[in-house]
Amino acid sequence: MPELPEVETICRQLNDKLKGHVIECVTILQSGREKPAGQKLIDILRRKKIESVKRRAKLIVWHFSDGTALVTHLKMTGSQILVDKKYIPKKHDRMVFEIGPHCLVWADIRKFGHINYLDSKEFADLLVKYGPEPLTLKPEEIAKLFIKPKTRNIKSALLNQQVIAGIGNIYADESLFRAGIKPTRRLGSLSAQDRMNLAKAIQEVLKEAIKYKGTSAQNYYDANGQKGSFVQRLNVYGRKNQPCKKCGAPITRIVVAQRGTHYCPKCQK
Ligand SMILES: [Zn+2]
Repeated sequence: MPELPEVETICRQLNDKLKGHVIECVTILQSGREKPAGQKLIDILRRKKIESVKRRAKLIVWHFSDGTALVTHLKMTGSQILVDKKYIPKKHDRMVFEIGPHCLVWADIRKFGHINYLDSKEFADLLVKYGPEPLTLKPEEIAKLFIKPKTRNIKSALLNQQVIAGIGNIYADESLFRAGIKPTRRLGSLSAQDRMNLAKAIQEVLKEAIKYKGTSAQNYYDANGQKGSFVQRLNVYGRKNQPCKKCGAPITRIVVAQRGTHYCPKCQK
């Protein structure tokens, strides 16, 4: 699933191209995951001017000049890719937008993603459901998020979008590796230094991943249809039984919070 660095990459690319342009035409190829549904959404979006495209948590938000927003959650396999105006739709495409001189396709192989048009109040209500952004807080503020509840394990805390927004399985595992913390550790067992190390590791990993335009572990593509290259820099995620890049011990895979979790049994305590 695209996480913070992947969605941030897409939003920056879309903002560069779409900012200031007007939606000229909307085509729904597969209905069912958009709100409001069908023609109603088409009528609403036509002639809307995109003021900016920004990320919040793992959401792509198109802000319109009238204060309303179009919010996409890509979920497992979604993409928003800029294409040529002569583009011929493919099997998994859901919607096509003609925006100024550009054309954009929202596609989704597994169909878990959704796109919602929200007024300013609905948008504000949605944002309340998410925890703080890891790249706007200071490390000491992030560290405080991992104090309670003491019995929760740190991997679950990192994945919980109400605790901290935008982190998923890849960057939870990578942050814990860099901080030297085993994913099963209870929050109550973490020292102040552990929490601080983790806070710094989270920011470091996310910033680096944005620099490399994200991780294409499965089928993630950015808004230009390119793969992210952070996958080569992963230390633990997806590296079961491969040697740890730091100590050589084989990377272990266990299940924590119902998610496949990778860590180095020697480097992470
Ligand atoms: Zn190691």
